Order: sequence, then structure tokens, then C-alpha cells
Amino acid sequence: MGKACRDKRDIYYRKAKEEGWRARSAFKLLQIVEEFNIFQGEVKRVVDLCAAPGSWTQVLSRQLYLPAKSSAESKEGDVPLIVAIDLQPMSPIEGVILVQGDITNALTAHLVIRHFDGSKADLVVCDGAPDVTGLHDMDEFVQSQLILAGLTIVTHVLKEGGKFIAKIFRGKDTSLLYSQVKFYIFLLLSESSSTAFAVCENYSPPEGFHPRDLYRLLEKVGSPSGGSHRDILGTLLADCSSGWLERPNKVYIPFLACGVLTGYDSDRSYPLPKESDGSSYQSLDPVQPPIAPPY
Ligand code: SAM
Repeated sequence: MGKACRDKRDIYYRKAKEEGWRARSAFKLLQIVEEFNIFQGEVKRVVDLCAAPGSWTQVLSRQLYLPAKSSAESKEGDVPLIVAIDLQPMSPIEGVILVQGDITNALTAHLVIRHFDGSKADLVVCDGAPDVTGLHDMDEFVQSQLILAGLTIVTHVLKEGGKFIAKIFRGKDTSLLYSQVKFYIFLLLSESSSTAFAVCENYSPPEGFHPRDLYRLLEKVGSPSGGSHRDILGTLLADCSSGWLERPNKVYIPFLACGVLTGYDSDRSYPLPKESDGSSYQSLDPVQPPIAPPY
């Protein structure tokens, strides 16, 4: 498939190149930011988990860092601190500290805290996706583990009242995941085909909660085939002496569709700009080719 063909079939892929985004996923974050007023209030410290190639990081840099930097130059105000983490190396983005690391490793959380000089983050975003194996149950399980790893980092680095945005692949185990996230954060959801984005506001850990408690929770749900959800939650409840888990585990998450019906449809092909007058279309190169491609 040629680049021009993909440009025609995938309008967001084309627009991303035109607007200088490293990936089309930038548009999803832009929609969420607008729909949920994510940058309203003080957003000074942000963590971008699973950030490569960096289009979400670009959104954070362009909408938070760059405007603050230009006004800071005149008013001497402070500028936001953005830390982006991924297993893959990333090429630089203005105003962003890049960390190559694994979000499932507890040390990663401590690394972030170090960069924030002990202060906590106002916003954590996680667009993590593992390499897909094609075995659906396995892929879904690994994906949910990534989100729970993101949630672990949230419990260490997010300030009370902070926000967390995470990509979720919707499958049969999603409701368990919602329950786990709901323990910590008020949750709204923005839907997009088989993926959804959990938009969590007002981080409010249960009273008496310590981040290490979450490790117990993650260990108990660590088996893709072991035990029904009822068994797992039953064990958790029996196991938890502090009582913070003893809450209803059935939650209903409101779904909110983002974007407008008059906007572009990601499943539709659009004519290329110059096709109508017979001149040839020049497809643009990717904004940022991978700097360490695996093959
Ligand atoms: N948000 C990015 C953007 O807008 O450019 C796209 C993220 S991409 C869909 C998913 C990323 O998750 C990949 O770059 C992958 O390396 C990263 N990832 C997967 N597992 C990870 C892990 N355990 N730790 C850190 N990053 C991980």
C-alpha cells in the first residue's frame, strides 16, 4: 500500500503529517482535552506514560509548555514540567524530559518523583499498548496489566484531586478493570471503536490507602485464566484488613462520545486534495520516523 493510498484512506494519518504530529493519536488526546477541559486549573506537572513516538507528548508540549514558556519569558512565571516515559527511545520534544524505561517497573515511579523534586503530578496520561500477538485473550490481558501498571504509578505520583487518562481495550474483562480504577478515581469514558479512553478526575484514594496495598490487588488479578472475577474479588475482600477495598465492586461508567458528527470519520476514505484538478498528490513523509526500529 502506497503512502498516498493510506493518506486517502486514513484522514487522521494525513492530517497528522500536515500538522506535524508524530502520530494520528494526537487528535484523540486533543478531543479529550477539549471535551473534558483537562488543562483547566493548574496543570504544572504532567507524566506521559508509554509516550513513543510522542504525539501525546507533543500535545502536552504545544498546549502547556510552549505557551507558558513564552509568557514566562515576559512575566518570569514558572513553566510546566513534563516527563515522558517509554520502553523505546524517543527523539527530543521541547520542554519534555524523556525517560527510557518500563512502566511495569516500580523504579520508574521513583524516577518520576525524582524529576518532580518530590512534588506530585497534576495529570498522568497513559496510551500504552503492548506488541500484539494475535491471541486475543493474551493481548487483552497484557493490555490490562499495562493500565494497572499505569494506575500503580498514579498512586505514587498523582496528587489528590489530579487527573488520569488511560487507553483501554474493551473486552470481556473490562468491567473488572473499571472496578479497580473506580476504587481510586471518579471515572468518565470517551468511546472510540474497540478502544476507549478512561478519563479519571479528582483522584481520591481511599482513607488509609498506601500504594503498597495496590501491589496486593495487582497480584490477585495477575492470572489471565485463574478464577472468576467473583472469586478474585472475594479473595481480595477477605484479604484486606484495612477495609478500603470493601466497597461495591459493580460500577456503571458513563460513556461520552468525543468529537462532532460533522468532523472527519476515521473509517471513511476522503479524496486527496489535488485529485479533483488532475494534478498529482504529494504525500508527506512521517513527521518522526522511528529512531530505533525493531526491524
Ligand atoms: N501516545 C503515543 C503517541 O501519541 O505517540 C503512542 C503510544 S503507542 C500506541 C504505545 C507505546 O506503549 C509504545 O511506544 C510502546 O513502546 C509502549 N509500551 C508498551 N509497553 C510498555 C512498558 N511496559 N513500559 C513503557 N512503555 C511501554
